Amino acid sequence: IVYTCHGFDFFYFWPGSLCDAKRACCLPTSGKPATDFGIHGLWPTFNNGSYPANCNANSPFDGSKISDLTKELQVDWPSLTCPSTNSSKFWTHEWVKHGTCSESVLDQHAYFEANLNLKHSINLLGVLQLAGIQPNGKVYSLQSVRGAIKAGTGYTPVIECNLDASNNSQLYQVYLCVDKSGSKLIECPVLPKRKCASFIEFPSF
Ligand code: 5GP
Ligand code: 5GP
Repeated sequence: IVYTCHGFDFFYFWPGSLCDAKRACCLPTSGKPATDFGIHGLWPTFNNGSYPANCNANSPFDGSKISDLTKELQVDWPSLTCPSTNSSKFWTHEWVKHGTCSESVLDQHAYFEANLNLKHSINLLGVLQLAGIQPNGKVYSLQSVRGAIKAGTGYTPVIECNLDASNNSQLYQVYLCVDKSGSKLIECPVLPKRKCASFIEFPSF
């Protein structure tokens, strides 16, 4: 059976939830990123919800191809795992695992540019704040978070939570679907299952 890609899954993560869950996040060597969602990646996905990975061993990450984007990537796509890095290991992982699977549509430069353009045009934190949902440690209903993103972007997101040190469910990742060109949001053909409590914390960063 040959499956076709419906397009992409676009993932963001909230750094505050990564840091207060593990209590061991490490800031990138470029410094503390802005209080904003970070890009996790743009992942080609099949219509049945499965996905291709590691599609071209002959296409390694090449930082020199995206040197014009490095500054922006450090701001919008920081790596917060330990030990501290300049984030390029994270970009390498995402390119090798996911980016190489959509290389016929987006070459390396276009792949990273598409991620940045999506993040800037969606402005997820702004959309949440417009609905009064702030990263201030307060608790919000999952429904209100979903509703705010739907109202602000026009599309239904998938929300993923993790647990903080006191086992409270908190907003960790947000997932939206993107068309085959990597530029326009679409309704997700398949919603992956991700867990959250019905009330979730939005921790500060
Ligand atoms: P987890 O299962 O921890 O959420 O995801 C582990 C990794 O599997 C992700 O970082 C990503 O590389 C891949 N993955 C998980 N869910 C999806 C999905 O729905 N679509 C695609 N394309 N990749 C996914
Ligand atoms: P996935 O396979 O989940 O797309 O990619 C996650 C991998 O990227 C992790 O296994 C980790 O080694 C690496 N990575 C580097 N920095 C980060 C970060 O800030 N957040 C996450 N989730 N993964 C990171």
